[in-house]
Amino acid sequence: MKSDVEIAQQATLAPISRIAADLGIDESEYEPYGRDKAKLSLTLLDRLKDRPNGKLVLVTAINPTPAGEGKTTMNVGLSMALNAIGKNAISALREPSLGPCFGLKGGAAGGGYSQVLPMEDINLHFTGDFNAIGAANNLLAAMLDNSLFRGNPLGIDPQRVVLRRVVDMNDRALRSVLIGLGRRTDGIPRQGGFEITVASEVMAILCLTSGIKDLKERLGRMVVAYTPDRDPVTATDLQAVGAMAMLLKDAIKPNLVQTVENTPAIIHGGPFANIAHGCNSALATRMALKLADYTVTEAGFGADLGAEKFLDIVCPSAGVAPDAVVLVATVHALKYNGGVPRAELSQENLVALDAGMANLEQHLENLDKYGVNTLVALNRFPDDTDAEIALVRERCARLGVQVVTAEVFEKGSRGGLEMARAVVEVCERPHHYHRLYSSELGLREKIETVAREIYRADAVNFSPRAQRQLENLTRLGFGSLPVCLAKTQYSFSDDPAKLGAPRGFEITVRQLVLRAGAGFVVALTGDILTMPGLPKVPAAVGMDIDEDGHITGLS
Ligand code: ADP
Ligand code: MG
Repeated sequence: MKSDVEIAQQATLAPISRIAADLGIDESEYEPYGRDKAKLSLTLLDRLKDRPNGKLVLVTAINPTPAGEGKTTMNVGLSMALNAIGKNAISALREPSLGPCFGLKGGAAGGGYSQVLPMEDINLHFTGDFNAIGAANNLLAAMLDNSLFRGNPLGIDPQRVVLRRVVDMNDRALRSVLIGLGRRTDGIPRQGGFEITVASEVMAILCLTSGIKDLKERLGRMVVAYTPDRDPVTATDLQAVGAMAMLLKDAIKPNLVQTVENTPAIIHGGPFANIAHGCNSALATRMALKLADYTVTEAGFGADLGAEKFLDIVCPSAGVAPDAVVLVATVHALKYNGGVPRAELSQENLVALDAGMANLEQHLENLDKYGVNTLVALNRFPDDTDAEIALVRERCARLGVQVVTAEVFEKGSRGGLEMARAVVEVCERPHHYHRLYSSELGLREKIETVAREIYRADAVNFSPRAQRQLENLTRLGFGSLPVCLAKTQYSFSDDPAKLGAPRGFEITVRQLVLRAGAGFVVALTGDILTMPGLPKVPAAVGMDIDEDGHITGLS
């Protein structure tokens, strides 16, 4: 089979004006970014506000292998297959980050014959949204350090600055840095640090906002530092909000592109699901719901991370709920959860596969707690054996959950017809979506609820620092916010080595980070860091471009 980038290069793209016209978008409602991309104007939502929403389908997965389970690939394949059976459907996806692209995982624009295009642009700088988000964040950081230098009129405690600078790269060397070194005019020396752009609060705000006015209110609420008395200092106090919002004037607009089969996709925002909330922008989802009968969105990593956050943070905030949840599983990931090392995942192993089903089963039980309707979609890889596929199907049938097999990577929409028909059917059933916890619970109780109900931890240990932060955030009136747990994607626990469906463990909350603008409190568990590092052999090593502009090694 051809490589992802070869398939992408050989596809014939429709002019983006035609994709927009087919969706009934007026020429005045989008700005083309070259031939193949366009920014959608927020006025579109005003014009369509009385149109009923289409169905919302959430694609999530079991706990992944380091290579990913194919959620994006399945999302794209599903929306193309829905179009193929005569429904109109849009994929709503996150923008890829350069961190994983050059790190372990490679690109994130789908794969094989289920990709969004132009994949090179989408995987690289796309329409510049992440640069704008980084610039807005870093402007705020520069204004904060300038305020410290100019006599510190806001009384910021330099030891209690919480805002970090950001860069969209996996760069462990920037996790902790000393800034302000040099002469007196070079600033106030202090320890600072970077996080990856996709973990930043500005990213979360952009993904949860409903428009420019709300964007400014949210940016203004960002807590950047505390005084010695632990009172918050905000972006409003630094008078940075207008300029930050200005930098985000185009980034706030969702991006319209197309799939390899020329069906529409809206790609916007890209927080990670392990260290942030993990879903594409609410604006993109809300627009897609107005423009199509089916919107297929994706939440990052396993359902313990992205789906939990989609259901507990995004849905209440955006006023949406999924009509169907597609839990993607692969034979590889099931065997990985059953204890097979990564290098041996291609060999048939029915015993490990059967053991790994415990992971899938726990995700199904968890999703049931939200009152949503779920089906399992098995993403078939070339080396899966018929016996392995049959075993998963049989085990799912015994669990009483609907299961479909999809080959959208190899065949595009043709490989997803069974999945599309099943999704249509599930969307017709009434759902009883509700979130896991009520906002009246305290922050500690909310964290404990997620840990107990979703992860199945016996207890949550809070470090002394996290306990002080819990008390202070509650004192400051932030106790009613939802929580966003930052946790390894490989395990239900906070230990990446505990695969399957671990029991008899406790999780540790090291630190809390207030995201007052985004509207949640991040709890950092285990060793999880908001600035990833590169692996021994970064994916970047295998990438190249020739004199004709042909790219290789990007997948
Ligand atoms: P996720 O969104 O879950 O992280 P992706 O859709 O990005 O996963 O897929 C991860 C990688 O696996 C990509 O390189 C993709 O091309 C590849 N992939 C996905 N599905 C298949 C499949 N059925 N066969 C072969 N490779 C696949
Ligand atoms: Mg993905």
